[in-house]
Amino acid sequence: MTTLPSNTASTTSTARDLQLETLCIHAGHRVDPGTGAVTSPIVLTTTFERAPDLSYVAGNNYVRSGNPNRTELELCLAALEGGTDAAAFASGSAATSAVFQALATGDHVIAPLDAYYGTGAMLTNIFARWGLAASFVDLTDLAAVRAAVRPNTKLVWAETPSNPLLRICDIAALAAIAHDAGALCAIDNTWATPMGQRVFELGADLAMHSTTKYLGGHSDLLGGALVARAGGDMWDRIRTVQKEGGAVPSAFDCWLLLRGVRTLPWRMRAHSANALAVAEYLAAHPKIDKVHYPGLTSHPAREIIARQMKLPGGMLSIEVKGGMAEAVAFTNRLKLFTRATSLGGVESLIEHRQSVEGPTTRAPANLLRVSVGLEHPHDLKADLEQALG
Ligand code: PLP
Repeated sequence: MTTLPSNTASTTSTARDLQLETLCIHAGHRVDPGTGAVTSPIVLTTTFERAPDLSYVAGNNYVRSGNPNRTELELCLAALEGGTDAAAFASGSAATSAVFQALATGDHVIAPLDAYYGTGAMLTNIFARWGLAASFVDLTDLAAVRAAVRPNTKLVWAETPSNPLLRICDIAALAAIAHDAGALCAIDNTWATPMGQRVFELGADLAMHSTTKYLGGHSDLLGGALVARAGGDMWDRIRTVQKEGGAVPSAFDCWLLLRGVRTLPWRMRAHSANALAVAEYLAAHPKIDKVHYPGLTSHPAREIIARQMKLPGGMLSIEVKGGMAEAVAFTNRLKLFTRATSLGGVESLIEHRQSVEGPTTRAPANLLRVSVGLEHPHDLKADLEQALG
């Protein structure tokens, strides 16, 4: 539970505790004072009139620095994570990059061995050349994380559940290690969303989202966001990177993203229920070797999941008996699961991950990543049944 940001809808003068379902709809939003429009207008202007006294009517002067749709989005995202501020970016990768850009040459980052491959590639291919050192560590091994801490460690970056192996790391323990080292802890909360995981309550300092996924929810926009638990120098530098670096979303993408956010709680519950049904079906199937899904009691991190996750989410991965050839042939027989990358939309997707990630992949050759959509679970299971044969 949290309260609405104080500068939003008329209900906000009474600082009431509100649930996520309510925040998704009301946080940051108000009826447009100029037109009475209940749904916010999309403000496509790039520039804003300056008053005779050199002020700006609503604080906006140029679209890269801010616009009404982005302000509404950022207020809403901050409220959803229970943070103090949020910054929206043009992609999840731009949001991740802003965190690393806010660090300095000579700083050190602890990053996951098993995570979205683009995050590791960014540290290796871009930031190493800028003198930002990174150690890639198995974050489920807390002794290894402690051993990786250096005097110049400034950030522990974690992703849980991880992409694509759905491994779970202990956010509270990682935040404690980071704080003992005088570092910050950032969590890529893309897969769990604020519905599935309250990262600030667990001690993290920054939440990152590829809003391209569940927050947008309809596979029709690219976006990213960072949310801060509290302000401070690091957050000020992130805001500077956002504004001066300029990797910001358009007004239309902010509007579209907010439209998706309105239904996030209801979608996440349905994604989780469908994914659990699919995971249980596949786990019992003789042609499937392994199912990686946080909702299964067989998950090796079930104790952490029980205290850390509120919903298991819509993502799972499977290892198909018979190796890569059988895995790919299986995807070719499916009718309701589309062979495509990305995740978090209403439609179910399936992807052979190793062939997408390239030579540095940690995905086994027989692994398929599944984004379980919002179709009826009976139909999804029937499709899997006919394709597995
Ligand atoms: N983080 C995670 C967990 C992801 O799954 C992705 C994309 O798949 C990203 C970050 C990168 O986000 P984007 O594609 O919006 O740049």
